[in-house]
Amino acid sequence: MQIDIITIFPGMFEPVLNESIIKRAQAKAKVKINIIDLRAYTLDKHNKVDDRPYGGGSGMILCPEPIFRAVKQLKHKSRSKKCKTILLCPQGKGFDQSLAKNLSKEKHLILICGHYEGVDERVRQNLADCSISIGDYVLTGGELPAMVLVDAVVRLIPGVLGDKNSLNFESFEGNLLEYPQYTRPAVFGSQKVPAVLLSGDHKKIEIWRKKEALKRTKGKRPDLLKS
Ligand code: SAM
Repeated sequence: MQIDIITIFPGMFEPVLNESIIKRAQAKAKVKINIIDLRAYTLDKHNKVDDRPYGGGSGMILCPEPIFRAVKQLKHKSRSKKCKTILLCPQGKGFDQSLAKNLSKEKHLILICGHYEGVDERVRQNLADCSISIGDYVLTGGELPAMVLVDAVVRLIPGVLGDKNSLNFESFEGNLLEYPQYTRPAVFGSQKVPAVLLSGDHKKIEIWRKKEALKRTKGKRPDLLKS
């Protein structure tokens, strides 16, 4: 998979993309992530990417021209005919595990990060295939949402996680939250690990985990059970 991220703050991505599983995924060539500086696609000598909103109001809006130019060039260079362009936007479709799964099957994603007061509406209407929100709150820019999306998607690409079984038992699989997990020591102060987990009886452990997952989901996220 190739992921291109268009941003006016390229430096924000370095620490996140060069650690842990995302770093390994790139090293294993499971994903290629390019950070695209929007200012490189401006034509004026000051590399201006934003302007005041028509009709008045506070803040600055990212102009359409450099964004359209950047996406056009990235698509032109793309090795994949099917390339999905996503605008990060608080008004977009809510990001969740099932959307992450669908995106992990794409060959080429182009993510557009807004900033300041947002992005010229024509980008949403005529350039982006969809817009995605990571939650009902407003962040300073689309950089953190893009990183959230990349993290959730990249770990789902086949071969990225060492143990592929770990994905089958994660929260949101089958609309359930994951069961409680414990590790050593078996006794910590007065707190004991449930005896069944030490029994070695795999059938019993499986049943216990399923019951606990159901109990948790009912208590914390009954909405998941409804769907
Ligand atoms: N004025 C916009 C509004 O009220 O809808 C908010 C603009 S926000 C300050 C600047 C940029 O941050 C947005 O263009 C978007 O790219 C990004 N952003 C902020 N919150 C987001 C969220 N919850 N999900 C995805 N992107 C978000």
